[in-house]
Amino acid sequence: MSSTGFTHPAGSASSAGLPSPWMITNPLRPALLAAARSARAERSITRMPVTRRIVDRFVAGEDRGAALATVRDLVRRNRFVTIDYLGEDTRDPGQAERVAGEYLRLIDELALVPVEAGDRGGGAGVCKDTAGPRPLEVSVKLSALGQALPDDGHAVALRNARAIAESAAAAGIWVTVDAEDHTTTESTHEIVRELRREHPETVGTVLQAYLRRTEADCRAFAAEGARIRLCKGAYNEPESVAYRRKREVDESYLRCLRILMRGSGYPMVATHDPAMIEAAALLATAVPRGGEDFEFQMLYGIRPAEQERLIGLGQHLRVYVPFGDQWYGYFVRRLAERPANLMFFLRAATPE
Ligand code: FAD
Repeated sequence: MSSTGFTHPAGSASSAGLPSPWMITNPLRPALLAAARSARAERSITRMPVTRRIVDRFVAGEDRGAALATVRDLVRRNRFVTIDYLGEDTRDPGQAERVAGEYLRLIDELALVPVEAGDRGGGAGVCKDTAGPRPLEVSVKLSALGQALPDDGHAVALRNARAIAESAAAAGIWVTVDAEDHTTTESTHEIVRELRREHPETVGTVLQAYLRRTEADCRAFAAEGARIRLCKGAYNEPESVAYRRKREVDESYLRCLRILMRGSGYPMVATHDPAMIEAAALLATAVPRGGEDFEFQMLYGIRPAEQERLIGLGQHLRVYVPFGDQWYGYFVRRLAERPANLMFFLRAATPE
């Protein structure tokens, strides 16, 4: 056990002289990430009878009622939550409005979820009216709010996101703007900065460590005191804009983490990687940054035992809870991330 109470996992970056596992990239990742955006692949995969059962491991249901039941359960078990209404790359203005409307209804219902201390100490036992971290958050993808519309996508996404940010701020709920592929980054940061001018306490965003630009973005957002979720990045990006080797991505993640931890904002360490989790804990001790001043985040259904361990150590842990019937892209990105997820899916889909 390290001085932070965090164990050094076997094979973490802190154990020297590692052979290659940390550098192996899933060779199927590019093909799967391409499939995540293929309508033909979507038709085939969504029709497979086995898919639904496996999707349920990663997605909290198709409707708001199912998502809210999951949220209540997670909050009762001392987790913070962030909820994503699944959907992306909307090409229809009406659909973008409908997504925004669904978020507004979600926020109204989230505002009724009790978030007082759960049945144990630590975790989500924080009132949503305090100035500290908010237990409830929504995550929004600007492409679902119209950003990809041909003429005025940026303006439509800003208008929809602004309505969500206003309603969330009034309800004491955080909003985090997800990061999508690199062609959207400039527009996304512009919208985030606009929203943060109006709601500096409640709006934050995501930065992806695999993008070469992200170290500079971390510096800028950290200096502005922004709330930043740092993830590795889940899209198929070209070498010209992104690190593609796992080791380079991990090194970038650590550099970015250092900047955010030393900055004046609120870092959200979004990873399942034991090496990154350990590094974040050590950095927080060194800065120093207390348990109220940063949090860990993981995706719904992934590493529940590790989530429990972090909560047991008194850390804030937020679970990203996706729901909705547009789960295909999200689901395939999860398969691409981890060969074990893909193997599980293939085994279940293969007749005996
Ligand atoms: P990886 O490099 O995938 O894995 C490293 C190690 O972590 C593995 O070797 C293993 O030891 C451990 N590990 C990973 N997954 C598992 C598992 N399922 N079970 C057991 N061990 C595991 N990406 C975006 O591009 N935009 C976003 O807005 C975005 N938001 C996110 C929000 C949250 C809360 C999280 C957690 C992730 C988000 N992502 C987002 C996805 C992210 O970019 C990565 O694709 C994803 O988290 C996988 O990277 P990783 O850091 O977990 O580590």
